[in-house]
Amino acid sequence: MNTLKTDTSIFETLRFVLVETSHPGNVGAAARALKTMGFSRLVLVSPRHNDVLGHPDAKAFASGALDVLANTQIVGSIDEALTGCVHATAVSARLREFSPQVLTPRQFAGGLNGNSPPQALVFGSERYGLPNEVVEQCDTLVNIPANPEHTSLNLAQAVQVLAYECRMAILEKGISPQTGNAIGFHGIPATVDQINGMFKHLEKALVVSGFLNPESPKKLMPRLRRLFSRSHLETEEINILRGIATQIESLAKKAK
Ligand code: SAH
Repeated sequence: MNTLKTDTSIFETLRFVLVETSHPGNVGAAARALKTMGFSRLVLVSPRHNDVLGHPDAKAFASGALDVLANTQIVGSIDEALTGCVHATAVSARLREFSPQVLTPRQFAGGLNGNSPPQALVFGSERYGLPNEVVEQCDTLVNIPANPEHTSLNLAQAVQVLAYECRMAILEKGISPQTGNAIGFHGIPATVDQINGMFKHLEKALVVSGFLNPESPKKLMPRLRRLFSRSHLETEEINILRGIATQIESLAKKAK
């Protein structure tokens, strides 16, 4: 869904920073990971390979993401990479005794919104991970809770996991009474008035049919409200439910 990309700027502003990456193939694969999830800002801090962006492995692993690769920024220090960011998050396989608050990728992504100010996810090198000095400059640390016997993912795969979780969190935030979910077909969300009217109608029908005893209603209506509140009712669905209620009423009257 590319509409999201234009609606929300987080896809443009979230910076994926790779520190001292040694394998050009990983840079290409990271560019691909970003592109598939709708992101585009890749920044390299002192990559080991000169001309990493032109390296055949980088191009081969980028596959269709050559544009992200071509726009990748190369800087000489973490400070430069973080310029203009309001928040920096270290992404590390290693949990340190003294570290910023530790989050899972999902928890981190849950804190994003469609137009967060620029922030960065900072990944370490294949060989050494992230130096402590870099982690100390970050406000939070994200750890992918992998198999404790084998915690270290390939760098580009770690980038993919983060990019996926961030995308999912943004897509899920598209589910709101105002906008509906960003994926698939969506009708017009029902208003509170329409929902209340439907419940009153349904209650009458349930009484007239004998299913609901007004002398002893128990928790039937609150329970039905709870059930329907989980389903984000749409106008068309309200009409269907009211049609069912009308039919119950007329059948109950005929039976009398
Ligand atoms: N040998 C390194 C591992 C580097 S893997 C070390 O000991 O730290 C390269 C990078 O991928 C890491 O620096 C981190 O940014 C990311 N990464 C790999 N596995 C991860 C995990 N389980 N959680 C968070 N990030 C991870």
